[in-house]
Amino acid sequence: MSFKCSFDIACLESEPLERLFDETTSYVQNVAIEMVVNERGPRGQEEHPATTIGLTLQRPVIQIADWLGKGQRIEATAHELAHLLLVYRSGLGVVGRRVPRPGDSEDVFRFFMSMRGDWIYLLGQISNTAHHLMLIDLLKQEYGIEDDLHIYLLHQNFYVAVNDKPNDKESQFGMGLVAFEYERLIGKIDRAINLDHQSEFFWEAYHLAHKHFGRYGFGSIPTPASYREDILSFLEALGYQKEDFTFFP
Ligand SMILES: [Zn+2]
Repeated sequence: MSFKCSFDIACLESEPLERLFDETTSYVQNVAIEMVVNERGPRGQEEHPATTIGLTLQRPVIQIADWLGKGQRIEATAHELAHLLLVYRSGLGVVGRRVPRPGDSEDVFRFFMSMRGDWIYLLGQISNTAHHLMLIDLLKQEYGIEDDLHIYLLHQNFYVAVNDKPNDKESQFGMGLVAFEYERLIGKIDRAINLDHQSEFFWEAYHLAHKHFGRYGFGSIPTPASYREDILSFLEALGYQKEDFTFFP
């Protein structure tokens, strides 16, 4: 990420995308869209050409890689806007680590002891996967937008991540979640990975994801309270303490 410029979606000439933008900004103002000039990574690395930052500051900024073609820019921007709709219209925020209570030394100790794993990957994946189960059909049914880019990236990135073999527990839990999402959105996971080579942590998260998020879909969007409870009890079943987490925005 080196150079950014603000970007006007009008030049993508997509009426459904503009409608989606208007709907999103009726729930959260000041949504900015930036085109980010960056090198496309080498083949065989995970690709994340679109992302949203600034959620915790109530000032979302959607960043789109400049190497995407016009059709993919529409899909990528729509995908990020749909995440924002789920956050602000449906009340399904993103889960994060709670900062320890100042002065509570046990709390501070536990926070730092558990910082070793790849928390950003695991927690990011929980909200992402939960959202994606609703988001793909939301885009199709409310806006007629097919999110082929997400399906392509899910397949690519899942294959790359699993073959990377990270050995921290949080990353393996995160990949179990991706496997669950893959099965829901694409099909059998043995198309992408070797089932015999996956860890106990991978399977634990995979089975728990089915149990806690299996009913999620565009036709069954959870209430904010049950969504938070599903995520916290998922984390608890993985061995964490519920009170260590909080939701944004
Ligand atoms: Zn997404």
